[in-house]
Amino acid sequence: MTSATPFPVPLPLYAIGLGSNRRHARHGDPRRVLLAALGALEADDIEPVDVSPIITSEPIGPSRRRYANAVALVASPLSPPEMLARLQRIETEFGRRTGQRWSARTLDLDILLWSGGAWSDGALHIPHPAMAGRAFVLGPLRAIAPDWRHPLSRRTIRQLAARLIRPKPVDQSVAAH
Ligand code: ATP
Ligand code: CA
Ligand code: CA
Repeated sequence: MTSATPFPVPLPLYAIGLGSNRRHARHGDPRRVLLAALGALEADDIEPVDVSPIITSEPIGPSRRRYANAVALVASPLSPPEMLARLQRIETEFGRRTGQRWSARTLDLDILLWSGGAWSDGALHIPHPAMAGRAFVLGPLRAIAPDWRHPLSRRTIRQLAARLIRPKPVDQSVAAH
């Protein structure tokens, strides 16, 4: 017996959101960019656990190009700031130029959730502050982690997705007239 811990502690899990709305000269269209990015994410200290289907969504903000989006679950001992630095390095490798938020970009990698719970410092907020309002995040995430609870609202991803997709209840006092 050489192992110090008879019961290995499971590695922290991260849910990573992937988005692309620009072709890459070598990898091709946004869908292929995401497939290549999934490969680039795998490393000695990042183990892929699951990946959602890739969906296509309408753009937000000034860019008019459609997005390919997906979510990956990865296990990693990296701390949240270390994970953010790794994701930003991969974005740069994929030719992302820093600039306007929501502008056309080859690759966007966001930390959505972390099994350690919530994290907040000047540069990083987990859960991702906008995730509960984004169908292109909740749809793919629900496909692979429907029971993961948002650590702040305590709602599951399934519940958050249902709230987003369900039509608003009709105001009966108005509907009656
Ligand atoms: P959004 O955050 O609304 O999806 P975006 O992804 O286009 O917009 P970026 O320009 O990629 O925004 O990132 C802006 C900054 O957001 C990054 O420099 C990073 O420091 C910060 N940030 C804060 N929380 C997170 C997070 N959970 N994941 C990734 N980046 C984050
Ligand atoms: Ca984003
Ligand atoms: Ca981002």
